[in-house]
Amino acid sequence: MTQTPKNIAIIGSGLVGSLLAIYLRKLGHHITVYDRRRDIRNVEFSGRSINLAMSNRGWKALREVGIEDHIKELGIPMDKRAIHLVGQPEYYQKYGKEKEAIWSISRGVLNRKMIDLAEAEGAVFRFEEKVWDVDLVEAKIYTGATEKGRWEEYAYDIVFGCDGAFSRVRHKMQRRSRFDYSQDFIDVGYKELTIPANEDGTHKLDKYSFHIWPRGKFMFIAMPNLDGSFTCTLFLPFEGDISFEKLRTKEEVKKFFNSYFPSVSQAIEDLSSDFLKNPTSALVTMKCYPWTYMDKVALVGDSAHAVVPFYGQGMNAGFEDIYALNKIIGQYGDDWLSIFKEYQTERKPNADAIAELSYRNFMEMSSMTADPRFILQKKIEKRFSQKHPEKWIPVYSRVTFSERSYVEALAYGDAQEEVMAQIMRTPNIEEVWESEEVEQKILELISKSKSL
Ligand SMILES: Cc1cc2nc3c(=O)[nH]c(=O)nc-3n(C[C@H](O)[C@H](O)[C@H](O)COP(=O)(O)OP(=O)(O)OC[C@H]3O[C@@H](n4cnc5c(N)ncnc54)[C@H](O)[C@@H]3O)c2cc1C
Repeated sequence: MTQTPKNIAIIGSGLVGSLLAIYLRKLGHHITVYDRRRDIRNVEFSGRSINLAMSNRGWKALREVGIEDHIKELGIPMDKRAIHLVGQPEYYQKYGKEKEAIWSISRGVLNRKMIDLAEAEGAVFRFEEKVWDVDLVEAKIYTGATEKGRWEEYAYDIVFGCDGAFSRVRHKMQRRSRFDYSQDFIDVGYKELTIPANEDGTHKLDKYSFHIWPRGKFMFIAMPNLDGSFTCTLFLPFEGDISFEKLRTKEEVKKFFNSYFPSVSQAIEDLSSDFLKNPTSALVTMKCYPWTYMDKVALVGDSAHAVVPFYGQGMNAGFEDIYALNKIIGQYGDDWLSIFKEYQTERKPNADAIAELSYRNFMEMSSMTADPRFILQKKIEKRFSQKHPEKWIPVYSRVTFSERSYVEALAYGDAQEEVMAQIMRTPNIEEVWESEEVEQKILELISKSKSL
């Protein structure tokens, strides 16, 4: 169905705002994007900002508007995990089938490129213009230098809030009756560090791996950059015996890394100075509903659903919102009321599902990796999946390498858990886990399950 061009404001020039600008320009709308920040293309950074893993859902959304190849030039495919355990040589776990990979991309570099591409499509960007207030009924926005200073008023047909987890647009919607909202911080924070390139520009670790140093309640990860460096993240509890609050001096930091991450300790020259200099950030799950107001305002991306990053899906989910929205626009033409209704009805359960999956992955990584029964369960699953790959697709693959809905992936994961709960109740499972009998029992339980 065709669309009558509208005057549309997008609040936020992050990854989601700039991709939405490209989609809406392609439909012929007039787009102005507002951001409170300076133009990221003029901000000095070494290209080593936070890294993101782009997976199938993200690529699908980029492909739809013909920019997948431009973005692939900025990334490095990681087709396996490299796992670093204390006192053991690193070992590799392929993600899945041939060619299945997640891509490491610097968020800053990606954002710059997306803004360039949106501008080339004719979107207008207004930086250093913070939106302080929104008139939901009239689709008007109010911008200005300070909250108390003079504001400019701009009227639009539609306003999209792509202004992230602490969205102002959503804040305005929150003040309405029957608006559901929740925000949950986890007790683990994160800090970014960098492993620099070798002198000849090569990578110090395997370039095509997602590196992970799991340590029970905390872990360290590293993703490759094109310049030979790795962007690393330490996830660690804020408080407790081993925590950020216990790492206040250079000596404490050195001792911590030497004990738990000796290889990292050697790879980063100024580790303790970098550690003390770089900020410690918090992680939040944010849920809300509704995501839209009449045919005037809609939330997309983190402003509608922020998730903890343990599945690497936040941006991918935001991009999938846009892909879904575009399909719905195709069905309803100018009927924006129906478009927004359908959009939130379709996407909200999926956002909740990826929030749940992401949180579970955090629990799994943080508390269960040391539990021998949990490790045994994972061994049984892996053995079975290798023998019957078509009957047991790991949930990670469902989420990361398929385009089936997050809701389905969650239901599939729950059904697998039910099967495994029964298997783990088998007497002497520790001794018989590799037996034909256990394999047959799994096959039988799968055949009885509705979701598998
Ligand atoms: C540690 C970590 C690792 C992650 N790893 C991954 C990963 O591997 N894969 C993945 O898919 N996702 C990952 N994510 C999630 C991903 O970063 C987010 O989902 C994504 O950046 C959300 O994009 P967005 O455009 O919705 O919001 P944001 O990136 O937050 O952008 C919001 C924009 O709005 C602007 N803005 C805010 N308020 C206003 C205002 N009042 N007026 C004007 N402008 C405003 C901001 O300046 C910003 O430019 C990770 C997140 C974290 C924290």
